[in-house]
Amino acid sequence: MDSEALQKSSASHPKPSGLTLQYGTAGFRTKAEQLDHVMFRMGLLAVLRSKVLASTIGVMVTASHNPEEDNGVKLVDPLGEMLHPSWEEYATQLANAEEQELQTTITEICQKAAVNLHKDASVFIGRDTRPSSKKLSQSVIDGVSVLGGQYHDYGLLTTPQLHYLVCCQNTQGQYGKATLEGYYEKLSKAFTELIKQSPISGENQRHLKIDCANGIGALKLSEMKPYFPKEMLIRLYNDGTKEKLNHLCGADFVKVHQQPPRGLVMEPGERCCSFDGDADRIVYYYTDTTGRFHLIDGDKIATLISVFLKELLAKVGQSLELAVVQTAYANGSSTRYLEETLKVLFSKAAETKIRQLAKEEKDDGKREAAKVLENMMDLINQTVGDAISDMLAIEAILALKGLTVQQWDGLYTDLPNRLLRVQVAERRAVATVDAERRAVSPPGLQDSIDALVGKYRAARAFVRPSGTEDVVRVYAEADTQENADALALEVSMAVYQLAGGKGAPPQLL
Ligand code: MG
Repeated sequence: MDSEALQKSSASHPKPSGLTLQYGTAGFRTKAEQLDHVMFRMGLLAVLRSKVLASTIGVMVTASHNPEEDNGVKLVDPLGEMLHPSWEEYATQLANAEEQELQTTITEICQKAAVNLHKDASVFIGRDTRPSSKKLSQSVIDGVSVLGGQYHDYGLLTTPQLHYLVCCQNTQGQYGKATLEGYYEKLSKAFTELIKQSPISGENQRHLKIDCANGIGALKLSEMKPYFPKEMLIRLYNDGTKEKLNHLCGADFVKVHQQPPRGLVMEPGERCCSFDGDADRIVYYYTDTTGRFHLIDGDKIATLISVFLKELLAKVGQSLELAVVQTAYANGSSTRYLEETLKVLFSKAAETKIRQLAKEEKDDGKREAAKVLENMMDLINQTVGDAISDMLAIEAILALKGLTVQQWDGLYTDLPNRLLRVQVAERRAVATVDAERRAVSPPGLQDSIDALVGKYRAARAFVRPSGTEDVVRVYAEADTQENADALALEVSMAVYQLAGGKGAPPQLL
């Protein structure tokens, strides 16, 4: 390590003294103007991580669905996974070290994590469309360079594209080609193969309106358009040319407000979807003939995909294991549905078996089903949630099954639910266990929630601290919307009182 060069380079990315930030599940996320030194230092950390694993590491500059003024950064591990939790602490230490402590902090991390500084390092860098992202990704590059790491700056990317590229690079192309073209080709080829077998005629089956949250999704979908088969008719809204990122649009806005994004006019029964700011999340929605808005989010998306895969596995005649990753936000009725009838993602063994059957199976029906499964595996981004790939998987399934958006929505019925946010002085006042379903601190909070839930029928509620803001999210569901609203409000009050609520007491939107 060239101490002098490090000192000099670090001095041009000075840390505001006293500022402390924490690396959480979403990486670092805060106001963009506070992040220059963090970016530089995450460049340093990516080099150390790359050296110790002898693999390429990704660095993504984005703050997802946060307002345009914010930014953030997260590291991507070799197979496209999130940074291993054991390194989150190093990230926090490095980001918070005062200028004069920087060198010792690096040395300490190298000792603790057994990093050999003489090894090579390779880092892939991507960024979203925020005005601050370009400059901040240059700071990442400065950090990588000063420790002698190689880098490839891909420029504008969706978060899942960076995960894909890192995984391809580290599997020597087994997962795909480590280029954007490789990504577009892999997905569009699988998608085209799938819808070839669709029994549906009539092109309007595949009309889709997409709200791009004024973010990166619009750019990347435009790039991808030439790869799509001609039957796929998509129209992009909120493409970032007029309005601000995530402002009154995007997946989070639509989900929280249960209303369409600004700038997208819906005809009854029309299929619409929204991406978030870095295109790793998606929700679908439509309005019925009475003009009522219907949201189709994570649970129903997971259900559609897993039911489809399970049917194919039955056709193939194999009892291969699948796994659907469920978050604690899963609605009660869908959790029951999934837990009772499905196990769902492809294990390595399942993948190998499916690819073999798609080639060699003698029975035509079984072989065809295995081919559909193989294409679904290629279409679904196995490294991380991906709005583009999820959208294509959903469109393919709807086409193959001949389902309208309403029919999909009707596959099972959600219990009425309500999501509220409670401002608190310190989000770490609330800690949870059991896949974020139970609160272990502050004392008494879980007891209060249990007592409140007991007052309502078919009710459930849980609380979860935000990974990025001093906010606690409250989720409640019950037999009627009125009861779900009332329960959410009562649980929010309990959080406000027991976990250091800030500002005005919680109320319904
Ligand atoms: Mg996101």
